[in-house]
Amino acid sequence: MRRCPLTVISRPAIFSNSPNGGGIHKHGREVHHRVAMLSSLELDRSDDRCILIPFCMSLQLTNHDRVIILGGGPAGCFAGLHLLEFARQKGITLEILIFEPRDFAIPGPRGCNRCAGILSSRLIRGLKTLGVTLPPEVIRSEIHAYCLHVGQQVLYLKQPDPERTIISVYRAAGPRLGHHPHPRGFDDFLLDTARQRGIVHRQEAVHRVTWEEKPIVHTKHESIEADLLVLATGVNSRPPLDETFGYQPPRTATMVQDEFLTPPDWPVDEVHVYFQGPPGLKFGALIPKGAYINVSLLGDGLRFSDIRIFLQQNHLDAHTFSVQNRLCGCAPKIAIAPARRYYGHRWVAVGDAAITRLYKDGIGSAFFTAQKAMETAVFAGISASAFNQHYRPYCQRTHRDNRYGELLIALWEATIHIPILLQSWIHAVHQESAMPPDQRIQIRILWGMLTGDEDYRSLFWLSLTPKSFINLGHGLKQALGGHHEPIIGTAD
Ligand SMILES: Cc1cc2nc3c(=O)[nH]c(=O)nc-3n(C[C@H](O)[C@H](O)[C@H](O)COP(=O)(O)OP(=O)(O)OC[C@H]3O[C@@H](n4cnc5c(N)ncnc54)[C@H](O)[C@@H]3O)c2cc1C
Repeated sequence: MRRCPLTVISRPAIFSNSPNGGGIHKHGREVHHRVAMLSSLELDRSDDRCILIPFCMSLQLTNHDRVIILGGGPAGCFAGLHLLEFARQKGITLEILIFEPRDFAIPGPRGCNRCAGILSSRLIRGLKTLGVTLPPEVIRSEIHAYCLHVGQQVLYLKQPDPERTIISVYRAAGPRLGHHPHPRGFDDFLLDTARQRGIVHRQEAVHRVTWEEKPIVHTKHESIEADLLVLATGVNSRPPLDETFGYQPPRTATMVQDEFLTPPDWPVDEVHVYFQGPPGLKFGALIPKGAYINVSLLGDGLRFSDIRIFLQQNHLDAHTFSVQNRLCGCAPKIAIAPARRYYGHRWVAVGDAAITRLYKDGIGSAFFTAQKAMETAVFAGISASAFNQHYRPYCQRTHRDNRYGELLIALWEATIHIPILLQSWIHAVHQESAMPPDQRIQIRILWGMLTGDEDYRSLFWLSLTPKSFINLGHGLKQALGGHHEPIIGTAD
């Protein structure tokens, strides 16, 4: 890198030679503030002095630079695929390596990045922009409806917009005790797509990442220098970055899951959602996946034994869903807050390792955080201030949106615990079912919350529109009049 001799300043104690954008362990705010004030200047701390350099000479990816991606789950693969695309647009060639130890072709938790596997329509649209189309062997089910079991009633929410396809997939090759032929996992397909497009996959774990003017990635067998490091290790393993990076992983909650054979008469395109269950349960969902059904519980402080309690309390523990018929079982973590210090000079975290949408569409978040981070890396640079200026605002927007999500979830929890509110809402939804799609406000809100198909902020403001209150008002009138609608039915 060329240096500008006129702008050399002596190195204050606060600017350490570290990858975190300049001494951000203790005094991060102060340094970022100073960097921001310098606006078009960058800090180069590759030797003992702090040198201010014009932005045009800031850290950039150049031809044949090496990008190392830690983790070959969705975020890692998306980062690689976006990087290839942006590099092509810029006319540079990059060497891209993904380190991923897991074999996604193994059934059960050993090969699996454990999740319910619902892909939102915004993710499916996003994939198309990268020229990625999911092959039929990866798609387990197309979801057309959500059935909500509230009290004694079942509420049928039909997909409000037929254009917005939602599908279920397995992340790996199906349940641990599943039968042959095992399904093909989404993560296996993505990693394969990355390999086919020229990204090198090393099937080993990275034990440690140190900093010697650039990130150095250490595995059992080798140490490799990276021009840019992408952290895509999710939240279910210890991040291998040294302390000097200053990275603090997101706060997490534990979820529990299991798999069962699909009963012969079970609808193949409906997700069933239940609210009865052990203390701390927010909701549990049964997700169709072809020959199997996934049971996922979401809540606070859940334990593996809660699956049994959930099945019992919702009267699902007849033969098919009995404990003896469990086929898999895991208790993965889900990110519920953003990471801190998730980028720096020559490194950036994406996917769950940075931030995800609250309880929703984590794979979609992996796609879009990876896209924004890689766009920044290719077109704006790979310095802390480039990520600060171009990537951080995107993550902050997601964080703000999650706040609206928390509000909506709190509103929903209040609704299901206040009988008159619940009845009004049920009547409102039932009435909306007979209305044209653009007037189905409550249905759209709930569908968006359950599927992650729309951002929480839009849904929150939609819930405060006059139309929303009018629909609820009609529902309240019916509830007060003691009407008991036949709630099971189609939305059309
Ligand atoms: C119970 C549950 C249900 C969920 N349901 C859904 C859903 O239906 N739809 C949805 O969109 N999202 C869902 N999510 C969220 C979703 O799973 C995550 O948001 C998504 O997996 C994030 O992708 P990622 O690539 O960031 O992380 P991960 O998928 O966790 O991938 C991280 C990868 O990094 C690898 N790795 C870790 N450490 C190292 C290392 N040191 N060296 C090399 N590689 C390493 C791991 O092996 C792994 O492959 C769910 C989550 C949970 C817990």
